[in-house]
Amino acid sequence: MGQKSIIIVGAGVAGLSAGCYGQMNGYHTQIFELQNKPGGLCTSWQRKGYTIDGCLHWLVGSSPANNFYRIWEELGAVQGRRMIDHDEFMRIEGAGGKVFILYTDIDRLEQHMKELAPTDKEVIEEFIESIRACTRFDLPIGKAPELYGPLDGLKLLSKMFPSLKVMRKWKKIPVQEFAQRFSDPFLREAFPLSFDLPDFPMMGMLMTLAWMHKKSAGYPIGGSLEFSRAIERRYLDLGGAIHYRSPVSKILVEKDQAVGVRLADGTEHRGDIIISAADGHSTIFDMLEGKYINDKIRGYYDKLPIFPPLVHVALGVARSFEGLPHSIIYPLEEPVTIAGQEYKSVGVEIHNFDPTLAPPDKTVLKVMFLSDYDYWKELRQNSARYQAEKDNIADKVTAILDQRFPGLAGQVEMCDVATPMTWERYTGNWRASFEGWLITTKTFGMRMSKTLPGLKNFYMAGQWVMPGGGVPTAAMSGRNVVQIICSQDKKPFVVSIP
Ligand SMILES: Cc1cc2nc3c(=O)[nH]c(=O)nc-3n(C[C@H](O)[C@H](O)[C@H](O)COP(=O)(O)OP(=O)(O)OC[C@H]3O[C@@H](n4cnc5c(N)ncnc54)[C@H](O)[C@@H]3O)c2cc1C
Repeated sequence: MGQKSIIIVGAGVAGLSAGCYGQMNGYHTQIFELQNKPGGLCTSWQRKGYTIDGCLHWLVGSSPANNFYRIWEELGAVQGRRMIDHDEFMRIEGAGGKVFILYTDIDRLEQHMKELAPTDKEVIEEFIESIRACTRFDLPIGKAPELYGPLDGLKLLSKMFPSLKVMRKWKKIPVQEFAQRFSDPFLREAFPLSFDLPDFPMMGMLMTLAWMHKKSAGYPIGGSLEFSRAIERRYLDLGGAIHYRSPVSKILVEKDQAVGVRLADGTEHRGDIIISAADGHSTIFDMLEGKYINDKIRGYYDKLPIFPPLVHVALGVARSFEGLPHSIIYPLEEPVTIAGQEYKSVGVEIHNFDPTLAPPDKTVLKVMFLSDYDYWKELRQNSARYQAEKDNIADKVTAILDQRFPGLAGQVEMCDVATPMTWERYTGNWRASFEGWLITTKTFGMRMSKTLPGLKNFYMAGQWVMPGGGVPTAAMSGRNVVQIICSQDKKPFVVSIP
C-alpha cells in the first residue's frame, strides 16, 4: 500500500504538531486553515510599529528541566530561541504600600511571605513545601494515554506515586478557599488574585510555580507568532503543505468513515484520515452536523465550564518602564466598569522584557479582563455601539494606567482593543474561549476521547480534547493522535529532531 494521506483542519499549535508528526511518520499530510497565518490562538499582531503578543505568558517545557522540552525540540520550536525566566510571577499591590510578590524562586517566596505575614508561618510552610513537592513531578510524554497497556499503567503509577498524595490533596482545594486560611488580611485578599479563575484548583497553581522555580516555563523572545512560525517552518521542511484562507465547512463522511473535507468555497479534498484540530464545538456540531455524538460528549458542551473570553487591551507607550516587573495588579482609586462588569483592581503586563516587541525606549502594556460572551455577541449586532464600547474601554484603560504611571496618557502612541468577538472571528473558538475547558476542582486531570463514537478514520486534537488547554497540551495532542494512527497501522512511531 502507498503512503496514506491525512487532512488536518486548523494550523494552530495542535494542527501543526499533528502535521509535523504525520510527516515524520511517512504520511502525506496537508492542513487547511481559516486564516492567512499559522498559530491560531498562539499569535501576535502588529500595530503602528508595536507587536502585541496575544498568547504566551509561560511556555511549559521552555528548558530541558521539563519533559515537554523534547516535544518543542522535535517541533523545531526552541532551537536558537532565547527564553526569559521572570524573577516574579506577579506582584500584587495593596492599599498603604503593601506588596505581595509571588517570586518564582521558592526560597525567596517563602522568606517574603513570612516577612509579610509572620503569623501565617504554618500555612506558608505547607504551601511552600507543596510547591517543592511538585518540582519533583514531570508529566509523562512517551506514549498516548490511549495506548497504555496494564504494564504502562503500573509503571506510570509507580513513577508518580510520590506525587499522588500531593495531587489528591490539592486538586480538590480552590485557590480562593485556600487563601482564607491566611490570618493576615492583606495576604488573604491578595493571594487569590494571582489565579483569579472560578474554582481554580491549588494543584494548578502549585505546578505552575514549580515549573517557574525550575526555570522550565519561560517566555520565548520574539513572542507567540514567531514561536508558531517556527513550527510552521518545521512542518514545511518535513514536506507538509498548508492551505491558508481555506475554511473547512464540512467533514465528508461515507458509510460512517471520514473521507475528506469540503471548503467554504465548495471545493472538496479527499484523504485517508481526517484530523480536526479546529474548535471542538464547530467540528462536532457544524462540520459533522452533530451526527457522531453521545450523551457524554453532549454533556461536556452542555455543562462543563470553559475559560471565559477576554477583553484584551494593548497600549503602545513611548516610555521604557525600565526596572519595573512584568506583571502588577494594583487597586484602583475608584472602581471601573468594563463591558458591564465592575473591577476594583486591575492587572497590567509590562512587555519590557522582550526588545523585539517595541522600538527602543518604547513598551507595550497590556490589560486583560475576563468578560461575558453574550454581552459582546449582542453588542456586535450594532457596529456603531460596538465600536463606541471599544473606544470607551480604550479611554478608561488609559486613565486607570495613568493613575499608576502618571504622565502615561500623554505618551500613548497606539491603543488596540480586542474583544471576545475578535477571538471568535479570528479562531472560531466556541464562545470565544481563550483556552478551551476550564480546569476546576472537578475537571482537574479529566481525560477526553480524541475520537467520536461511530466515526472511523477521524480524530480530534487540540484544546477541546485536552481539558485545561495550553500550548504544550495542544502540541502533545497532535503527537498523541499520530501515535494512535501509527499504532492502528501497526507501525512504530518515530520522531526526529532538526
Ligand atoms: C490571551 C491568551 C493567553 C494565553 N496564554 C497562554 C500561556 O501563557 N501558555 C499556554 O500554554 N497557553 C496559553 N494560552 C492558550 C493557548 O494559546 C491555547 O490553548 C492553544 O494555543 C490552543 O491551540 P489549538 O491548536 O488547540 O487551538 P487554536 O489555537 O484555536 O487553533 C485552531 C486553528 O483552527 C483554525 N480553524 C478554526 N475553524 C476552522 C475551519 N472551519 N477551517 C479551517 N481552520 C479552522 C483556527 O483559525 C486556528 O488556527 C493563551 C491564550 C490566550 C488567548
